Amino acid sequence: MHGGAGTLPRGSISAEEERGFRDGLERALRAGVALIDAGRASLDAVEAAVRVLEDDPHFNAGRGAVFDADGGHELDASIMDGRDLRCGAVAGVRNTRNPISLARLVMERSGHVMMAGSGADIFALRNGVPYTTQDHFFTRRRWDALIAAKDGQPAAAVAIGETVGAVAVDRNGDVAAATSTGGMTNMLVGRVGDSPVIGAGTYADNRTLAISCTGTGEGFIRGVAAYDVSALMEYTGAAVQDAAARVITEKIPALGATGGAIALDPHSILATPHSTPGLINGYLTRDGTIVTRLYDDETPTR
Ligand code: ASP
Repeated sequence: MHGGAGTLPRGSISAEEERGFRDGLERALRAGVALIDAGRASLDAVEAAVRVLEDDPHFNAGRGAVFDADGGHELDASIMDGRDLRCGAVAGVRNTRNPISLARLVMERSGHVMMAGSGADIFALRNGVPYTTQDHFFTRRRWDALIAAKDGQPAAAVAIGETVGAVAVDRNGDVAAATSTGGMTNMLVGRVGDSPVIGAGTYADNRTLAISCTGTGEGFIRGVAAYDVSALMEYTGAAVQDAAARVITEKIPALGATGGAIALDPHSILATPHSTPGLINGYLTRDGTIVTRLYDDETPTR
């Protein structure tokens, strides 16, 4: 799992907030691994894990999403299955509680790959997903961040994206990836970042890896970041750590963007590169231990 790239120095958040972030990641990891232990597909696991963080107000996805320039929420999400490259994405949805599950519905029931705006919310309704009013996504912390941005104040000491993502490999060696976000505080209405763009924010291919990115989305779209990591592995035989580090810590920063990614190959080798000072993330070791990493000094840059 990741919970966004940015900077989180030690001492910058309260013990209670720290517990909140770590608990969220742990619950998400447990939700995913419970399905994998039950023999379910990695696709089910990443969807379930991301839903937990969409419902958790600490993270910038679903409830707790940041505000756009008009004081509204526009949510983006995507999901991809490494078995057959099937994928689904939604952009700019406003009335759907769990955008990641809507992305999966798009994949499985629409005949399309990506749906946007009111059409996506209506598609949700037609498929039995309850209508959610925007106040469901409200948190005071995000509102204060919007006001601060409007006042031209520098971003708070704790500047972390808190976008969420998951990658998983199941017992069959199949990989899947999922990403969900509220975007960037004070973004123009209608702006879409990398998270719902397959190949930019999310990618999964059993021959290479599953990857979910976070950071300044415009650069990740221009650099086609997620697919670039996969292509490097496919065409040059690069290992996941080398391919992911090259793209995330060299190629994307060269475009003027910063961020990070979680990248997992079918042999369960995990890479967590980032060009921001930190990357909120968590994972499960082979013996089932849950590790969560919040602070800048907890996750090495590659
Ligand atoms: N990549 C996301 C976007 O540009 C934001 C983030 O990861 O924090 O919408």
